Amino acid sequence: MESGPKGPFPMTKTATYAWERPAPEADGRPSAWGLLPEDLDAMGAPIGGDHLFGRLQRPWTWTGGHPDLGKGAARWVAEHADLHLPEILERHPSSDGSTKLVLGLSDGQRIEAVHMPRRVRNPRVTFCISSQVGCAMGCTFCATGAMGIKRNLQAGEIVGQVLRLMSELGPESPSQLNLVFMGMGEPMHNLANVHQAIRVMCDRRGLDLAASRITVSTSGLVSGIERLAKLTPRPLLALSLNATTDEMRSSTMPVNRAWNLARLRQALDAWGLRPNEKFTFEFVMLEGVNDTDDDADRLAAWLGELRHKHVVNLIPMNEHAHSPFHEPKEDRIQTFSDRLKAKGCFVTVRRSRGRDVQAACGQLVKEA
Ligand code: SF4
Repeated sequence: MESGPKGPFPMTKTATYAWERPAPEADGRPSAWGLLPEDLDAMGAPIGGDHLFGRLQRPWTWTGGHPDLGKGAARWVAEHADLHLPEILERHPSSDGSTKLVLGLSDGQRIEAVHMPRRVRNPRVTFCISSQVGCAMGCTFCATGAMGIKRNLQAGEIVGQVLRLMSELGPESPSQLNLVFMGMGEPMHNLANVHQAIRVMCDRRGLDLAASRITVSTSGLVSGIERLAKLTPRPLLALSLNATTDEMRSSTMPVNRAWNLARLRQALDAWGLRPNEKFTFEFVMLEGVNDTDDDADRLAAWLGELRHKHVVNLIPMNEHAHSPFHEPKEDRIQTFSDRLKAKGCFVTVRRSRGRDVQAACGQLVKEA
């Protein structure tokens, strides 16, 4: 597979890029994991689309890591669809209980996901999943951005990633599962496949996930935000903000050169937030770059002008070899956080999980 560019996302679309071409699927057959019951019916599924979909999409009923389809249906599916699931190639457990997984795709490309169990009163598992192999957005603090883009994941590969993790690591019940699209890739840059995967995973005949338990995180690709705002089911939205002036944001996040802070706020204001829903803003703190008192004041002012409820996650930079930035000192993080709170912001400081195995935010990278 031809490699994509390293560095900034091309702002003017003039061609179909290599990473947008479909993944090589066996003999052109679609991935079975990205099909809805109605798709299976339209293809002539022998046991009915609902029934076949349920067998495919409920990993707690599988045996030996595979669905039990029955002989006739298995033969039909093998003829009409590709049953390849991403394989877990490497497991890197962290001392904090999370595990970074390296998954292999059918064409040999690799992606990363993170399994994050929480053993509090109600056990919950969060999967941080990938939407692309690499990323085109070129954020300068991010290891995935330094890879460039290889290709989009197909809907079946996104769903397959989740089913594989569930079948091997749990949870047994999807009612204990949360998904965050915060792994490799910019989900809005592959929105058609991401949204088809969400439709499949929210279907009551399969995993039956509530859209409110799925979060799509974006660097601020406004055209995608505006499209997703109109789609059903609609997941929660997280924004990776990371700067308080256009000059600073454009220098660390090239997407800001196409859609600046004012345009981003316009798109957010137009998003019809449901009751009990709020936006999450992520703010990666870079020592000496965006962590001053003035930054905190500008951030509070920018957020204060938003129409909708929100929460801010401060994420001290997870240092890695692909970026020159550093984590601010603890007292700077505290002062920044206190200053935001004093101005009425709801703030949490997120200690990223998996830092010791390079699984934390901005650290996911896989050399081809
Ligand atoms: S932070 Fe997200 S959007 Fe930016 S380069 Fe990394 S993966 Fe891509």
